[in-house]
Amino acid sequence: MAFKIIASQCTQCGACEFECPSGAIELKRDNYVIDPDKCTECEGAFETQQCAAVCPVPKTCVPA
Ligand code: SF4
Ligand code: SF4
Repeated sequence: MAFKIIASQCTQCGACEFECPSGAIELKRDNYVIDPDKCTECEGAFETQQCAAVCPVPKTCVPA
């Protein structure tokens, strides 16, 4: 399982990129994207998904 970013809602603030413990979030062609192969859903690192926790736009980092 992995999280994804709803591109149409993302403001590209960049906050999530540095909070991800798996280095799964990258800016690609002007959109922040989550690499599903790297996303661990923060399991073992945090109780909650850090991208969703830090994102200022509700329901933008969601389960894929
Ligand atoms: S759920 Fe966790 S591991 Fe997955 S992209 Fe978000 S911060 Fe990174
Ligand atoms: S924190 Fe939210 S709005 Fe900011 S870049 Fe990440 S997904 Fe987009």
